[in-house]
Amino acid sequence: MKSIKIPPEHPRAESLRIRERLIEHFSEGVVATAGLIAHGRGEAFDYLTGEKTAKTASKAIKAAASALLTAERAVVSVNGNTAALVAEEIVELANVTKARIEVNLFYRSLEREMSIKKLLEKAGAHEVLGVGEDASAKILELGSERRRVDPRGILLADVVLVPLEDGDRTEALVKMGKTVIAIDLNPLSRTAQKATITIVDNVVRAIPKLVEIARKLKQDVKKCHEILLNFDNEKNLAESMTSIKERLSKLAEEGGYLALEDEKHER
Ligand code: ATP
Repeated sequence: MKSIKIPPEHPRAESLRIRERLIEHFSEGVVATAGLIAHGRGEAFDYLTGEKTAKTASKAIKAAASALLTAERAVVSVNGNTAALVAEEIVELANVTKARIEVNLFYRSLEREMSIKKLLEKAGAHEVLGVGEDASAKILELGSERRRVDPRGILLADVVLVPLEDGDRTEALVKMGKTVIAIDLNPLSRTAQKATITIVDNVVRAIPKLVEIARKLKQDVKKCHEILLNFDNEKNLAESMTSIKERLSKLAEEGGYLALEDEKHER
């Protein structure tokens, strides 16, 4: 499918470019049909957060980088949308934190798994777990195809990063005693609520920031432990909801759409 040209001066150019990327990868079989719908839900929440990384998200990103860097066996779980949006950055993150990469899908088919693996390899990945017969272990608490995991990856992992996850699997992984890091624009989703560390941000902003912070913290294990000790996910999640509420109240008081334009110019 030929993608359309987005005029750079379009007020929502970046958001449209992301959409086009997903549509392109949908045609190539990387993104599932439901992935397009899930993205729409994410976009709506991104509008509410002001399409920028909030202070609370930055705090969670620091905690997430610390958890990945101090893990014994960290795994980054990748689905279609994540691969379509941030394949290179996922590979970078895995390199910096020495995490393994595993494909895990709700809508599993060998073709999709292979397309995602190919995309990750093109982005520089040397190893991609969880494809085909490699996903031979099962998480018994789960009914969906998400239950199939690689015995060398998610099954053994102590820390799992799950960008764009579903609530069931987050809950199951936490029950298995794993530290689960979620990236989800919706602070109310079960994923956001059940994860150990919740980053309420868009993956396209959160993953590059995670790479940057992990690079900075890499040499300082003591600091990583300190950050983790002082991080309270419940409190942070509550504060991220409060900051959305406060932003909306301010915009409502200052005149809606016009105030939104002013806010953009202030950036
Ligand atoms: P849950 O099962 O956790 O309650 P859900 O039913 O909303 O969540 P999905 O339908 O799998 O789960 O939706 C995916 C989630 O991913 C949504 O909460 C959406 O806000 C979020 N999301 C979509 N695109 C992005 C993105 N680019 N960055 C961050 N989050 C996103």
